[in-house]
Amino acid sequence: MADDNATTRRAFLTHALRGLGLLAVGGAAAALAQAGAAGTVWQIDPDACIQCGQCATHCVLRPSAVKCVHTHALCGYCKLCFGYFESESIPDELTGTGAEFQRCPTDAIRRRFVEDPFYEYVIDESRCIGCGTCVKGCAAYGNGSLFLQIRHDRCVHCNACAIAAACPARAIRRVPADRPYLLKQTRAPA
Ligand code: SF4
Ligand code: SF4
Ligand code: SF4
Repeated sequence: MADDNATTRRAFLTHALRGLGLLAVGGAAAALAQAGAAGTVWQIDPDACIQCGQCATHCVLRPSAVKCVHTHALCGYCKLCFGYFESESIPDELTGTGAEFQRCPTDAIRRRFVEDPFYEYVIDESRCIGCGTCVKGCAAYGNGSLFLQIRHDRCVHCNACAIAAACPARAIRRVPADRPYLLKQTRAPA
């Protein structure tokens, strides 16, 4: 049974790493096609971001081009995920996963049972508005596996990014268009 569990978790990690690879390659192709003359695009440094909420409100797009990204390889697959659950509303014994227990205001996080006591959390980008609320919860109580990134299949590559101008942490900077993501796993342009 222990071997089965290890195999299942290994399969999930493999899946997660493959997903990150696709994110980088697919994003790179889109970004390269639209990058400015300097060959750079805007991106959020997840280590500098303080999840102030302005990524949701200051992008020229509605919803924002900023989305939550999940590095599954860093995730603890926690049953009580504080990126998913509102910490103040969790009773001693978890009684449900209804909206009243959830942190995300748009129901953009999918929670799926893996094996006791592990759960997988997947972001539905079509619902995510880049508010960073889940990121703040995961950073405060969890592994920090959730973070914000400008998605280059949505960003229109403004000459001056309106979010970068407003960002109180100066967390948004230009990165090479052929490595357009700053993934937590690598801490370098991917
Ligand atoms: S809490 Fe905000 S950043 Fe996180 S998934 Fe929901 S909308 Fe996206
Ligand atoms: S460059 Fe423009 S579209 Fe892209 S994240 Fe910034 S404000 Fe939004
Ligand atoms: S504006 Fe800056 S600090 Fe605020 S959520 Fe966006 S990247 Fe993070």
